[in-house]
Amino acid sequence: MSKESRKFQVPDALANLYDFANTLDLRHFTHHGVAHPQGDELKAPQDLASWMAARGMLQADTKITPAMFDTAVGFRRALRDYLQHDPPSRRQRSVARALNEAIAAFPLVAELGGTGKALLRPARNDALAGISTLVADLYDGMQSGSLDRLKMCAAEECRRLFFDRSKPATRRWCMSSLCGNRIKTRAYRARQRATQ
Ligand SMILES: [Zn+2]
Repeated sequence: MSKESRKFQVPDALANLYDFANTLDLRHFTHHGVAHPQGDELKAPQDLASWMAARGMLQADTKITPAMFDTAVGFRRALRDYLQHDPPSRRQRSVARALNEAIAAFPLVAELGGTGKALLRPARNDALAGISTLVADLYDGMQSGSLDRLKMCAAEECRRLFFDRSKPATRRWCMSSLCGNRIKTRAYRARQRATQ
């Protein structure tokens, strides 16, 4: 859970997934004359280790190798590609294929506990076990339907993941006051030009 996920009231169960997908910040719009700097929180294995440790996802005495790092970043890429589709399209096998291939590196095992509920736990016991918990979150979110509300902002110059809290779940922009307004203003100006 991060400051961002709390600010935007992302449910706890999806907060790590939301943060992980948003470690890549592609926003490149200008707001009040200031250009938003693009960035990637995960540039090297050490960055991933810090990110995971901050969330209690890194087991002690485990090390993230460059190959593990590439596997995790590959999962992030597939996750973002998948979440850019609207929920009905996500049901298509062809849309989910790349994500299914990426998560194959993070197998899960069922665990029956005292809670009266079965849980999915990472089958790996290395440093990437923490990333496997994101796959379990993905599974749970899909089962509960809450994943349908995790969406990518429709603004090409934003592409940030957001949690759609609107009742009809039809939001397209991370913030209507920001991306929504910018797109609407642009469309308005284009229409003005077209009629002139
Ligand atoms: Zn946006």
